Amino acid sequence: MSIWEVFKRLRPFVRPYRKLILFALVLTLVGALTAQVNPIVLRYTVDTIEEMQKNGWGVARGAGLLALISGILFLKEILNSLIVFGQRFYGEKIRISISGDLADTAVGRILTYDLGFFSSQTNEKGKLQSRIDRGVEYLTRLVQSFFIDLLPLFANSVVALVVMFSANFYVGLVALSILPLYFWVSYKQAEKLSGVRRTLKGQREDKSNGLINLIESIQVIKSFVREPYEATKQFRVQQLLMGSLLKTRQTNFFFDGLKSFLEQIGVVLIIILTAYLVLDQQMSIGAIMFHILLFNNVSAPIRQLHRIYDEMNDALTYSESFFDVLDRKEAVEHSGSYQVAELAGAYELNDVSFTYPNGNKALFNVFMTIPKNQTTALVGLSGAGKSTLINLLSRFYLPDSGELLLDGQPIAAFDLPNLRRNLGMVFQKNHIFKGSIEENIRYGKMEATQEEIQEAAKKAYLHEQVMALPKQYASDAQMLSGGQQQRIAIARLFLKNPPIIFLDEPTASLDAIATEQIKNSLDAIKEGRTVVIISHSLSQIIDADQIYVMEKGRVVENGTHQALYEQNGVYRKIFEASARSLNLDKMLESMRK
Ligand code: ADP
Repeated sequence: MSIWEVFKRLRPFVRPYRKLILFALVLTLVGALTAQVNPIVLRYTVDTIEEMQKNGWGVARGAGLLALISGILFLKEILNSLIVFGQRFYGEKIRISISGDLADTAVGRILTYDLGFFSSQTNEKGKLQSRIDRGVEYLTRLVQSFFIDLLPLFANSVVALVVMFSANFYVGLVALSILPLYFWVSYKQAEKLSGVRRTLKGQREDKSNGLINLIESIQVIKSFVREPYEATKQFRVQQLLMGSLLKTRQTNFFFDGLKSFLEQIGVVLIIILTAYLVLDQQMSIGAIMFHILLFNNVSAPIRQLHRIYDEMNDALTYSESFFDVLDRKEAVEHSGSYQVAELAGAYELNDVSFTYPNGNKALFNVFMTIPKNQTTALVGLSGAGKSTLINLLSRFYLPDSGELLLDGQPIAAFDLPNLRRNLGMVFQKNHIFKGSIEENIRYGKMEATQEEIQEAAKKAYLHEQVMALPKQYASDAQMLSGGQQQRIAIARLFLKNPPIIFLDEPTASLDAIATEQIKNSLDAIKEGRTVVIISHSLSQIIDADQIYVMEKGRVVENGTHQALYEQNGVYRKIFEASARSLNLDKMLESMRK
């Protein structure tokens, strides 16, 4: 991406603020003019005093002059303060507004993307967040350095040059001829730094990632007594970072020195030339200070060049991946238009195959019939493709090939919000949002009343436990135990009340009592709904109206529990292994006693 492309992409974000920007630019121009007041006043003062001195006038006669220049400088300072305030304030207003708009756009955009986008490796949680955050940060910094830093300085520089040229062509020429050298040195400085800066960026990320990992895995580190090992690892990262930091400083000091040197050469040349012109009677003595101050106005912005150059480079690096997040048109979930108030939930899969965006082939030629208002269990070893199948049934992904019908319609034809309002899901681990228990249950139905929420909690065997907490429904939901969080997910489901329900190992991580209670809740919810359940719990499988057995992405058997058991195939093997793991014989023995 070139800098022009970046500006082109930024245009729609900058456009709403064009009046503000215009205003800031007018302020900039006025500021550039006032910056030339000092040299002019100084020249006038020196020349007038020199004249007075020649005429032998005393202090009394000079008082008028002093009053005049004090007045002018005073007024100029007041005006200048107002201008600087205006520039900064409006500049900041532009920057903050654009930064907000960029972030809003990015968030709005990613919410429309499908799961494939989020599960791709370049968009892992942390990476995506930093792509967006950094992108917004550096793009707004670019806007800032352009409109707030760069333009005023350069306007100042150009006006000062024009004043120099109009005072004396040769002096202007000397000032101008220093500039290319200065540009060249700045360019070299930025070029030299760009490599180091990239390394530095990587090392900073390594360092903070390393620290986060360390904090997250502290228990494992301690249990294996790996503290010295981890410390050495961090130390090495830190050493590399320090090396790069020192190198950056070294480069900067060298080039900054070189630039000061060049600037001083410019000053000396201007003094010599102006002194010559004064002695040659082509100029008054005041011109010496005049030209030096003007030259300072010319060179000040150039001193900032390498910083601005760096910022542009950073903006280029980060904006590419930021705009890439905005541009992922192919990831936008395509909604069909087919709407129906209440779905029945009869699925029909004919020869369905599916590959994840990263190339993992997860389903092969699946044929399946899921009747409405019945419970269908998916059984198979882990990695068999059961969760993937649920991902397809809930249309988080579309099949590569084959036909997936829901109530006789291709699933892609459905209006997405309409479809998802008809689906409910409970997983092994459910997401609990930061917030209270009440807010978390309410996620199932935003407009639910307090009574409805409590009713749902009761059905999920959660109400009594919540009432025992000091802050009851206002308690922090993330502090609840795994089993309680599971009940929140089930309460949400009761509130949402969808006709189709997917359960993905809903009791896998629970203790026996919780499992039993949650099974009771789920049995209550299953009534008159289409349910697809993945489970390793025999009791839940046996209860199902029909069972599909999956192996390596394929359906290998299907039927009722009894039929499959008698078939003496994969299902029987899994069933018997589960039964053995329960140690049923001994259990029965002790129950008989
Ligand atoms: P199960 O639910 O039967 O344990 P899954 O459906 O989770 O199995 O996984 C089936 C296959 O798909 C596995 O090989 C797994 O690695 C792969 N897989 C699951 N989720 C993803 C994903 N988001 N991206 C890529 N591959 C995936």
